[in-house]
Amino acid sequence: MGQEPTIHSLETIVTQGLCIGCGLCKSLAGKDANGAGNVRMVMNREGGERPLVTGTVDEPTLRLINAVCPGLHVEGYVHETSVEAAEDAPELHPIWGPTRLMGTGHATDPAVRFHASSGGALSALSLYLLSSGRVDFILHVAASKLQPTRTVDHLSFDAAQVIEGSGSRYGPAAPLADFKAVLDLGRPFAFVGKACDISAIRNYAKFDSRVDQLVKYTLNFYCGGVSEFGKTMDYVRKVGFSERDISHLRYRGDGCPGPMVMKTHSGKVFNFSYNEMWEDEARWQLMFRCKICPDSIGDLADITVADVWPGGRPDTEGLGFNGFIARTRRGQHLLESAIVDRAITITEPLGYDGLELAQGSHMYKKQSITARLAAMGDEGLIVPDFRDLRLDQAAAKLTEAEREGNYDGMLSRLRAGDNVENMPVAIG
Ligand SMILES: Cc1cc2nc3c(=O)[nH]c(=O)nc-3n(C[C@H](O)[C@H](O)[C@H](O)COP(=O)(O)OP(=O)(O)OC[C@H]3O[C@@H](n4cnc5c(N)ncnc54)[C@H](O)[C@@H]3O)c2cc1C
Ligand code: SF4
Ligand code: SF4
Repeated sequence: MGQEPTIHSLETIVTQGLCIGCGLCKSLAGKDANGAGNVRMVMNREGGERPLVTGTVDEPTLRLINAVCPGLHVEGYVHETSVEAAEDAPELHPIWGPTRLMGTGHATDPAVRFHASSGGALSALSLYLLSSGRVDFILHVAASKLQPTRTVDHLSFDAAQVIEGSGSRYGPAAPLADFKAVLDLGRPFAFVGKACDISAIRNYAKFDSRVDQLVKYTLNFYCGGVSEFGKTMDYVRKVGFSERDISHLRYRGDGCPGPMVMKTHSGKVFNFSYNEMWEDEARWQLMFRCKICPDSIGDLADITVADVWPGGRPDTEGLGFNGFIARTRRGQHLLESAIVDRAITITEPLGYDGLELAQGSHMYKKQSITARLAAMGDEGLIVPDFRDLRLDQAAAKLTEAEREGNYDGMLSRLRAGDNVENMPVAIG
């Protein structure tokens, strides 16, 4: 008989630095008799939006949360168990994952391309999914209307709503905070978000058949990691304001990459360049969980998109382009139709060498994970269950010295308490 898996409390998941703040547990924990959420997503001292139990979470619910939490479990693509038959399998690259169709291009509509984060791929595909009737709405994120420094889950039923959610939000975001309620609508939709959000959805699909029935498409962007809220607040404070003074905040877009723009209720406007935002890695304030992310590129998504700047950084402002990678048959059909119907324009081919040039950090991260996890295990911490992601194959490309460097680096981080987070405190 197999051993029962250990069930971790939400507090353990959060305080060991494994929570990515997707919000799925909040949604699954439901509401109490008075309609108040049993779990709330609350910002903690480190600047992560984290689940806080404010009602009752019974044992079966906690078991379910443990089974679906992407902080604990991430699975990659396996031919035999995928919706696609083994004989119709896509090419499976050890680093870059399943691939059926690749290309470089952008949203055909210049206004969408300009306003979006890069080339407008995700917004254009979202608009196309709606206009072609393939889905009824898109679940993604947008700036909060009440607090534009923060990011909230966002349902788009029309073009204006898609455009409202367009752009990269580099701070905490919990797109799955109302996922069950979204499924309860009983309408077909697409999800756009990070790879870890999609892992959560795929994990939950094993327990709720509505996921496969209703989530018609999953689209993601390559994700270098989410910054804690402190990074956003550094800019708010830098210009001498506080959070309540801010009336508008976009991190990029309106050009490519476009500036970070902050506006105040008093009418002041501040711009920061993309390279200024990301020049000093020490100030990125990335969540710990992102440093052990085994799949930042969305093995299980239908279509994945990326920036394609050679070297991973823009030299100048310019027109935006995306790399497109259709992973599933469904994603391939969608991309091909979007090209034929002129929602997407492909300008040149994209190969693995191009991905390596533009997204080398993702390759290096994947190669490093096994050593980093070993350090976590040796420190007696929870080691997340990452499977079918070809991590050993990736690690084999590193030299022994590089593997040791990753192990030692992680050990020092852990001993310095880099992974430790505080539980949020309920206010009000
Ligand atoms: C935290 C973060 C890290 C990133 N790291 C990389 C990277 O390493 N390499 C790379 O090539 N690109 C990265 N990007 C993505 C890149 O900035 C572009 O967004 C991507 O190329 C898609 O461009 P687009 O023009 O198609 O996006 P758009 O058309 O502007 O659409 C972006 C979509 O993403 C959704 N979204 C934005 N922020 C979030 C969020 N935090 N969580 C969930 N959904 C969100 C929006 O709601 C929108 O639907 C990152 C983005 C974020 C938010
Ligand atoms: S990663 Fe998601 S499901 Fe797991 S604890 Fe955090 S918010 Fe909950
Ligand atoms: S780096 Fe990985 S864990 Fe972190 S936000 Fe991106 S996809 Fe999620």
